[in-house]
Amino acid sequence: MKRIEMKTPLVEMDGDEMTRVLWRMVKDELLTPFVELKTEYYDLGLPRRDETDDQITVDAANAIKRLHVGVKCATITPNAQRVEEYGLKEMWKSPNGTIRAILDGTVFRTPITTTCIRPVVKTWKKPITIARHAYGDVYKATEYRVEGPGKAELVFTDGEGNETRRTVFGFEGPGVLQGQYNRDDSISSFARSAMRYALSTGQDLWFSAKDTISKQYDGTFRQIFQKIYEEEFRAAFEEKGITYFYTLIDDAVARVIRSEGGFIWACKNYDGDVMSDMVSTAFGSLAMMTSVLVSPDGNFEYEAAHGTVTRHWYRYREGEKTSTNPIATIFAWTGALRKRGELDGTPDLCDFADRLEKASIDTVEDGVMTKDLSLLSEIEVKEVADSEAFIKAIRARLEQSLS
Ligand code: NAP
Ligand code: MG
Repeated sequence: MKRIEMKTPLVEMDGDEMTRVLWRMVKDELLTPFVELKTEYYDLGLPRRDETDDQITVDAANAIKRLHVGVKCATITPNAQRVEEYGLKEMWKSPNGTIRAILDGTVFRTPITTTCIRPVVKTWKKPITIARHAYGDVYKATEYRVEGPGKAELVFTDGEGNETRRTVFGFEGPGVLQGQYNRDDSISSFARSAMRYALSTGQDLWFSAKDTISKQYDGTFRQIFQKIYEEEFRAAFEEKGITYFYTLIDDAVARVIRSEGGFIWACKNYDGDVMSDMVSTAFGSLAMMTSVLVSPDGNFEYEAAHGTVTRHWYRYREGEKTSTNPIATIFAWTGALRKRGELDGTPDLCDFADRLEKASIDTVEDGVMTKDLSLLSEIEVKEVADSEAFIKAIRARLEQSLS
């Protein structure tokens, strides 16, 4: 069989523990036999990050800026225990945080759906993607515990030293106080990333906030989204036949539950934190969740939403075969390959990505699945496979599909 050619390389970011093992298996069994894989390889495994003083992570992020598409394996975010376990020089920061800061991106999380697990919400037929604005608001707020009577004020001092004051509250007894902020440029980046991703996936975009109550703060979010939509995206949305609409967060929640799914829901930081856990739980499994970081100027980084599956890794290291689910890792690769194909104008690559996704889902729907899915399955489980056997079963279906 002739292998599919690639024009431009992908940025490939290797990672840690069990997902590093899956990464190899997926490449060897499902990618390199079929695609002349071109990648720029960055090893973001913790030992290499430590060796390079984390420069490797910065280099990888800059490579994504240059090549526009990356695929990343799950990586350890070190804590005190990891510093000891790996003998680290420092408690390096989260690679995802570093990459996100360099690309100025927004993370979109989407469940991978199969007939094997039915969403808790009966009307949901298609995935719901949540985009969370991961900057500011309550996560960067300054808080104050008020111990007794007194006046709370907001004071803003401009560059010339002029003060503007607003009374927040006149306390007659103890209470609490909080100051939050956000920045127009961060909100604008968020809006552009969300609109780009809606265009890229051909799905409607919803944005929700509470501007009836928070006229300045949430009102600013709403206005920035509307302005960017009108000036930069409306024509492209209309051409693609998709819509952007704003609604109040409480109305959005009601609509989401009654919907069929198949749209992107952009949320403010706190709403996104809460709603993404609700939506992902209602869809079934963390092992079936993909994630893509999209920058406002159109760079894409794909990965699985789960971590390095440490508990399985410790067993694998002892020589045990584990039944770790590789589907989200496979979908990170297919997402990146499809995007590469779109940007390079190489439809064979997009077609390959479609076929590999279908082969993965078909395997599960034929009753062959990893342990995590077997425990949730609403269809008959014919075989609980270890990772290797499961990947081989996908390969058999992929070969059939390609022949
Ligand atoms: P995790 O790796 O997502 O795993 C938590 C548990 O979820 C696992 O023990 C396993 O449950 C189940 N699970 C997750 N993915 C699975 C899969 N593909 N197949 C089967 N089961 C799966 O989260 P964690 O244990 O909290 O974190 C481990 C490491 O990952 C940490 O060092 C953390 O820093 C890192 N992390 C990285 C990222 C990232 O790179 N994006 C994200 C999150 C966490 P059972 O053990 O019950 O089978
Ligand atoms: Mg959370």
